[in-house]
Amino acid sequence: MISFIGAGPGNVDLITVKGRRLLEEADVVIYAGSLVSKEHLNFCKEGCKFYNSASMTLEEVIETMETSLKNSLKVVRLHTGDPSIYGAIREQMDMLDKNRISYEVVPGVSSFTAACSSIRKEFTLPDVSQTIILTRIEGRTPVPKEEDLEKLAAHKASMAIFLSVQEMDRVVEKLIKGYGRDDVPVAVVYKATWEDEKIILGTLKDIEEKVENEGINKMAQILVGDFIDSNYSRSKLYDPTFSHEYRSASK
Ligand code: SAH
Repeated sequence: MISFIGAGPGNVDLITVKGRRLLEEADVVIYAGSLVSKEHLNFCKEGCKFYNSASMTLEEVIETMETSLKNSLKVVRLHTGDPSIYGAIREQMDMLDKNRISYEVVPGVSSFTAACSSIRKEFTLPDVSQTIILTRIEGRTPVPKEEDLEKLAAHKASMAIFLSVQEMDRVVEKLIKGYGRDDVPVAVVYKATWEDEKIILGTLKDIEEKVENEGINKMAQILVGDFIDSNYSRSKLYDPTFSHEYRSASK
């Protein structure tokens, strides 16, 4: 069996119970070495074989999976965060489908929710935003022009921006144009849930300088929006004057 597993954002206890169990049972683990904590591998049984996918091609990854399967070995493909977000998992699954090899996918805690926990906020606040945009600035991988940061920012939704902290200048420029103001709160969370996590709070006006002063240029979430610091309305769900399926309004 091949199991694609979301390892979570960093802290080893943030993998799912199912993911940990599969890791413990694995004979072969192919892990994304640039972002997955090596501590996860301490839970594997003795004799388990490890492959760091950072130095492998897609073809080599698939070949390793297929050879292991032929020898009836249990394979775990360990991705950072949740594999469905910038995980390059689809191309692997498509190759396996083509070769009629079955697999399962176990979700994980993505770094965007981990970063929001670290700053102890909520993305979706009544009267502030009910939408979260997950995106990135274009790098070597292009972004469709309809999804340009400036256009997305014009929605004024809560945003979590991946893979972009190395280009804070361009990110900030586009966001200021899109939001139409520079006092929008921003939190840059470097290595959320790792021991060397760093949180930098600011606004679109000063965040670039703050991030530069801290020397952060990789592995960070850029969270943007008024959800970080603004007034909001209380939820209807827990409002004493509001009744719903599970609770009637107090008299
Ligand atoms: N699948 C992953 C994302 C992989 S892309 C997920 O669901 O989180 C890699 C990008 O994710 C990094 O450039 C960074 O923007 C973000 N990232 C991953 N781990 C992170 C962490 N612990 N803290 C902050 N950002 C993180």
